[in-house]
Amino acid sequence: MSLSSPSPCVSCGACCAYSYDWPEFEEEDDLDGVPVEMCDCDHGRMKCVGDRCVALEGVIGQAVRCAIYAGRPNVCRRFLPGTDACTQVRAYFKLPALAAEPPQATWA
Ligand code: SF4
Ligand code: SF4
Repeated sequence: MSLSSPSPCVSCGACCAYSYDWPEFEEEDDLDGVPVEMCDCDHGRMKCVGDRCVALEGVIGQAVRCAIYAGRPNVCRRFLPGTDACTQVRAYFKLPALAAEPPQATWA
């Protein structure tokens, strides 16, 4: 996939809807980009509805976006397409594995 291709994440979203306790904030997270109503601050993570992060918009496996993309937590920034973890969560939603992406490729 060339760098000009759209990120596979924009038609996926699986990692954002896989677990009610993910993503967890990290110590170095700047939470200014996380609206208070989206923060499960008592547990140090994003609020979820079921297993789905409240910031995820759209339909998994079709078209999605992160409503707080610019201010998303570090753990989200590090979750890259084509990794083993990506393959695992995509498989949970019956989405095929991706070829590994260069590190800079992520949501767009
Ligand atoms: S990192 Fe992988 S699982 Fe997460 S949205 Fe992108 S393609 Fe989907
Ligand atoms: S904050 Fe955005 S990127 Fe992170 S899990 Fe929620 S929707 Fe996905």
